[in-house]
Amino acid sequence: MATVLPSPPRVGMVSLGCPKNLVDSERILTQLRADGYQMSADYAGADVVLVNTCGFLDSAKEESLDAIGEAIKENGRVIVTGCFGKEAEVIRARFPNVLAITGAHEYEQVVEAVHEAAPAGISPYVDLIPDAGLKLTPRHYSYLKISEGCNHRCAFCIIPSLRGDLVSRRPDAILREAEKLVAAGTKELLVISQDTSAYGVDIRGDVRQWKGREVRPHMTDLARELGQIAPWVRLHYVYPYPHVDQVIPLMAEGLVLPYLDIPFQHASPNVLRAMKRPANDAKVLARIKGWREIAPDITIRSTFVVGFPGETEDDFRYLLDWLDEAQLDRVGAFRFEPVEGASANALPDQVPEEIKEERYARIMEKTAAISTAKLAAKVGRTIEVIVDAVDEEGGATARSQADAPEIDGEVFLRDAGGLKVGDITKVVVEDADEHDLYGVPA
Ligand code: SF4
Repeated sequence: MATVLPSPPRVGMVSLGCPKNLVDSERILTQLRADGYQMSADYAGADVVLVNTCGFLDSAKEESLDAIGEAIKENGRVIVTGCFGKEAEVIRARFPNVLAITGAHEYEQVVEAVHEAAPAGISPYVDLIPDAGLKLTPRHYSYLKISEGCNHRCAFCIIPSLRGDLVSRRPDAILREAEKLVAAGTKELLVISQDTSAYGVDIRGDVRQWKGREVRPHMTDLARELGQIAPWVRLHYVYPYPHVDQVIPLMAEGLVLPYLDIPFQHASPNVLRAMKRPANDAKVLARIKGWREIAPDITIRSTFVVGFPGETEDDFRYLLDWLDEAQLDRVGAFRFEPVEGASANALPDQVPEEIKEERYARIMEKTAAISTAKLAAKVGRTIEVIVDAVDEEGGATARSQADAPEIDGEVFLRDAGGLKVGDITKVVVEDADEHDLYGVPA
């Protein structure tokens, strides 16, 4: 039976006050969009309404109270944020039913309040952020969505029918948001979209000025500029189109992390054709080799689907052999599952569940062995990490440049008492297992 997906919750926003408040509204909405929410242009279509208030003058407070009153009357489920939020008792006295009140710049709190009021029910089939990422993104890393929708029509995917064709954001708007995120404490930007390498194909020619330079709506220009804004920039959902080769030198220069998240999904030409995958390039192994010559430390992460309709034992073996050659650093695997509305559901030769299970076990065994060997080779090396958490006993949990939050491994540190969350520092790797590293500050 096909998996039926719930529709994402919708958030309405009323933004009052000065440009700074508008910037806060944009930042909150960007985070919510990245978390899988959709926006509503009217009260009626919203599952929850945010009122971002101004409390600078009495007249502004009155205007804020009026806006809250209107939102309560028209929708009923209202969260208040912004400068006036510091006078929560005044708001509560007039509107005891508001769901939550947070103050100015309390992005995490307001986003958390929205998650509580209208849970996003994140779905691995349509959302880019890992489930665990739905716990609030800490300040030191942020997802940066550069486009919405997708021009491809992969047979197992329903994103184009849910979210439409690719719509890219203006490059200067993305860069401005990146600057704001960094000013608010972000050290690592995680660039996301359904198809990062297709960024800008819909707004070709819309060249923008940024810091006196021309920036094309193109992945390479964007990556180069982002690399000058944030200490760490990580690219997700990159398809291996030919122009991806142009970002590898940026990795070698240290502008962008030497990390590529490429959802290959399969290697067998037959299966890729049946999946209708983009950038289905037989020479991809040679290109991976070329990338490693330019950026030897590059980490390549990918996901694969096993048991796609029509996948034969030969196709599956082809995939295992391909993985032996490709030596990918991080691999996630999924058993094919029909999702309601996907064209793959109607394909002949559906693979029986027990064969999917058996292939899943085989691919996991193969990729775990590759990962173990790759991590073992890091023992004794000094690497750069970003600190995600510290404990009271002097330990810390960090990630290397090879590890995206929530989906890859971690670096567990001892004697790390001097470190703070968000620090980027050098550590010596002392040990490794299948997924994680263990080390000590250098
Ligand atoms: S590239 Fe394929 S899998 Fe990815 S969003 Fe587009 S249609 Fe879906």
